[in-house]
Amino acid sequence: MRNIFTITSQRVSGIRTGKITLGGKTMTTPAIINATSRGAIPHVTHDLLADLAIPPARFLNMGDFLDTSKIIQEHGSVESFLGTQDILFGGLGHIKSGSNKSVEYKSMLQSHVGSRQMKITEYTELCKAVKTDICLPLYDVPPTEDIAKSRAFKSIQRTETYLKEMIGNFENVFGVVSASSKDLAQSLLEMLAKYPTLTGLAFNVPISVIPQLNIPDEFKEKPLMYLKPIKGTDLKDLLNLGFDLFIVDVHKEYTEKGIAVVGNSEEEKSINLNDECHVEDAKPLVNDCKCYACEHHIRAYINHLLKTREMLGFVLLQIHNIHHLNQLLVSLINKSS
Ligand SMILES: [Zn+2]
Repeated sequence: MRNIFTITSQRVSGIRTGKITLGGKTMTTPAIINATSRGAIPHVTHDLLADLAIPPARFLNMGDFLDTSKIIQEHGSVESFLGTQDILFGGLGHIKSGSNKSVEYKSMLQSHVGSRQMKITEYTELCKAVKTDICLPLYDVPPTEDIAKSRAFKSIQRTETYLKEMIGNFENVFGVVSASSKDLAQSLLEMLAKYPTLTGLAFNVPISVIPQLNIPDEFKEKPLMYLKPIKGTDLKDLLNLGFDLFIVDVHKEYTEKGIAVVGNSEEEKSINLNDECHVEDAKPLVNDCKCYACEHHIRAYINHLLKTREMLGFVLLQIHNIHHLNQLLVSLINKSS
């Protein structure tokens, strides 16, 4: 494993800027990485993506490739299968706490066709076939309530077993910290510190727990990713805590529900474009937003598109939502300089 991350500035607020360079691909951080559906960002075509000027990175839910891994393998890699140059992160996507009832060498894998149990070696084969740039191992998701010491010990043991399997097979692997309590999260960090060649860390931990954690020196200069679903209002806290990468499923959280996110970093607001009050609403989603949707269309039109189930309604909402969250991040970074 090699170092793919360079910190370019460290600010008093805690915010740091950096760069990830990997096999000729580069992205700057902090960055929002879009969750995908089967590798694609829903409703966004390749040319739209270029216009959106978002970080060249995607998060792939490995469960989405269970039925296509063979054809991807024949094709060489998921990068050429998808026709993208983005830096590709592969893992299990967002997992709700407690839903991953993993046993010693098996884990529940979430996919678009539901969840199914998967042997640890099967996951390795899947990752080998898909070949993302960065792999997240399977990890144990303990229940949210306080757990007994013996259960916590087992959880760490399982996560370590999954991790070892990945380290033995892949070059760029993130260690995963998945816990609801400070104690378990800290114990996991100490276990992960035994593997200083890890590329970075990914946290499936409540934001409130993070300030209480002592991140081992081994990881101080490695990229930190936040895995739990976030809102725009969480960005400031996570940036100040030194996080570099955020996974956001814009489509599921907002667009699919007909929602435009319009809040700022202090207060998250949203507009439900399905609401009747927008039938004659001639305003853009956000007055001063510079996205294509806001510059060219009004709320009444998007309401009309949603009602007639025109795909364009989701396209416009998706453009706005992705643009808005990325602008929010950029403004927070700029404010801190
Ligand atoms: Zn907009």
